[in-house]
Amino acid sequence: MATMREAREALKLYFGYEQFRPMQEQIISGLLQQKDAVVLMPTGGGKSVCYQVPAVVLPGICVVVSPLIALMKDQVEALLANGIPAAYINSSQSAEQQYAIENECLEGKLKLLYVSPEKLLSSGFLSFLGRVRVSLFAVDEAHCISSWGHDFRPEYTQLKALKHHFPQIPVVALTATADKLTQKDIQEQLHLQSPEVYIASFDRPNINLTVKPGRDRFNKITDFISSRPRQPGIIYCLSRKATESLANKLKQNGFNATFYHAGMSAPLRAKAQEAFLKDDVQMVCATVAFGMGIDKSNVRWVIHYNLPKNIEGYYQEIGRAGRDGAKADALLFYSFADVMNMRSMLQENESDKKQTELQLVKLERMQQFAEAAACRRRILLQYFGETMQKDCGNCDICRNPPTTFDGTQLVQKALSAIARTQEQATMTLLVDVLRGARNSQVLQSGFDKIKTYGAGRDVSTLDWNRYLHQMLNSGLVEIAYDQGYTLKLTEQSREVLFEGRRVQLVKFEEVRQPEEATVRARPKRELIKDALFERLRALRKRLADEAGVPPYVVFTDSSLQEMAAERPTNRIAMLAISGVGAQKLERFGDTFITEIIDFINEEQAKGSKLKGATHLATYEMLQQGYGIEQIARQRSLNPVTIYSHLATLYEQGYDIDLHQFVTKAEYKAIAVAIQKLGTEAKLKDLFEALGEQYEYYKIRLAVSIYKKGDTW
Ligand code: ADP
Ligand code: ZN
Repeated sequence: MATMREAREALKLYFGYEQFRPMQEQIISGLLQQKDAVVLMPTGGGKSVCYQVPAVVLPGICVVVSPLIALMKDQVEALLANGIPAAYINSSQSAEQQYAIENECLEGKLKLLYVSPEKLLSSGFLSFLGRVRVSLFAVDEAHCISSWGHDFRPEYTQLKALKHHFPQIPVVALTATADKLTQKDIQEQLHLQSPEVYIASFDRPNINLTVKPGRDRFNKITDFISSRPRQPGIIYCLSRKATESLANKLKQNGFNATFYHAGMSAPLRAKAQEAFLKDDVQMVCATVAFGMGIDKSNVRWVIHYNLPKNIEGYYQEIGRAGRDGAKADALLFYSFADVMNMRSMLQENESDKKQTELQLVKLERMQQFAEAAACRRRILLQYFGETMQKDCGNCDICRNPPTTFDGTQLVQKALSAIARTQEQATMTLLVDVLRGARNSQVLQSGFDKIKTYGAGRDVSTLDWNRYLHQMLNSGLVEIAYDQGYTLKLTEQSREVLFEGRRVQLVKFEEVRQPEEATVRARPKRELIKDALFERLRALRKRLADEAGVPPYVVFTDSSLQEMAAERPTNRIAMLAISGVGAQKLERFGDTFITEIIDFINEEQAKGSKLKGATHLATYEMLQQGYGIEQIARQRSLNPVTIYSHLATLYEQGYDIDLHQFVTKAEYKAIAVAIQKLGTEAKLKDLFEALGEQYEYYKIRLAVSIYKKGDTW
């Protein structure tokens, strides 16, 4: 029986992680004891590890049922990159391919096998599995089994066959959908035997939540992405047309953008998705069709160009950011016009009144979230039934707590205007009246004659809109959706108008932009760290392209960030980086270590330049045509020192030709000794090993050539 100690060792060895996340530990421990389990964890919570680690330590194979072929492929690639033998089997493969994989299963060569539900239930497959040593069944995206969920798949309901055929083998069902009904359905339909139910927190603390007014959003977007160069992101738009026009506009402005929606042909969609996965395109403007089946862990930001229809959708979409646990941003644009549009869209659906009503209520919750003046994360988690003990500190409200002021007079003006317009004005018209606008609507309605006309001239249109929304949210006024969206007074309005009730309003300052402020004030160390991160990112992209996998399969962003901060320059230090397991160390470790060492060397070169870098002075004189002896004389230095400057310059990539100082034959001879003693050997030792036949400076130069791997 495998133990938790083995599981922890596997976590480090294969995945490169030091510790399990809290719930993972319990889940895995239960599975190792053959207990069935239901796991509810948000996207990015780390569900895969929950069955992949048991798969590795248990004898036999773990069969993973997964509905999306694209996801299977990604998962298998990631497992292989970690050195875990895995494969998938589905209808996209030829009979021969499927047969070959089945053979690998029978021979016990695989630790994980991904199958689609169709394949699993196809004739003969279960009896084939009967001949394989199966350690565990994992049912991914298990909410698909429930008709209450948002992604019902009838094939999933047949999965109860698993327990029927294999009553002894534990089943773990996993989903990121939290609701109770779905959870119960999963247990019942899969016939799980008194399973443990694990419900992880749905909090995603690494995602910064920000809401901005929708006005001028294009410029706000370009500002936002300009401060995030090369960071992959998604912009969700409401319509197919909008995705295309936004992508084109971004491209015209020099951004690397594309679009994605369900109206495109399958090859075009696949192309857009592939380019995004591989970091060839930085951002995708997409409808909500994009994201299902995308397992890209380094999405750094998600923008909602329009207000989403409901909080469930919003949370799922922002959840695609920062799955690797590194910092990510969710930016939502909110305008009242969007709400109005969506309302009319929903109300067009005459056929199902109940459904429409439900959706309108959900939209209203979404709107309240966008308008709220309290910690956004609290509101979100509360919506999912989770109460936070304190404010999150990572949302716009927490960063910029709103200040309030006594807004009684403003509110009175607005309410009085509503009364005097006989409750016949929409919000737009009311603001025009308050501001004393002379447009046709105002004049036609005759509202330019009322007493409060122009009484709120000193407040901008935008601010009036905001104050009116606050009044709406706190019930000081209502909108009659069924009477042309006209504003109506409420019981509370009367208290303010006639009973002296006072009202606090939230003051709106243009939200400070902490990200930009921090860019400016960033300490030098941070910038250097970023420079190294960029270098490592470029290296990762190169290696990923060579291997034909998405970059995050090589290393996640958080691993690169840790490398940039810790600067591991040897294998032991590299292995300590989270996400670096044995296989990745073997495959990529040295390349990354070399890149880091190069970076450090260059940095030192730059640093010493400030102090009058000695080898750079040499370089300058070389440029001016001086010979080595001349430079040495002029600088009162030993010629050997000047040669070592050349070696340093050469190693740092300066345009220096060392071959004129060492012949090919000399280099070959010296290289033999270097190979034996290593590039870090003392020059003196090399000198002696070579029978004192070669001058020191030649040995020094040969070491440099050897290190860089240059040849004649
Ligand atoms: P989910 O399937 O729940 O969306 P994943 O299994 O894809 O989440 O995990 C999300 C990210 O977290 C991945 O990059 C994964 O490697 C990482 N991760 C999982 N478990 C751990 C852990 N114990 N320590 C550090 N990172 C982890
Ligand atoms: Zn907060």
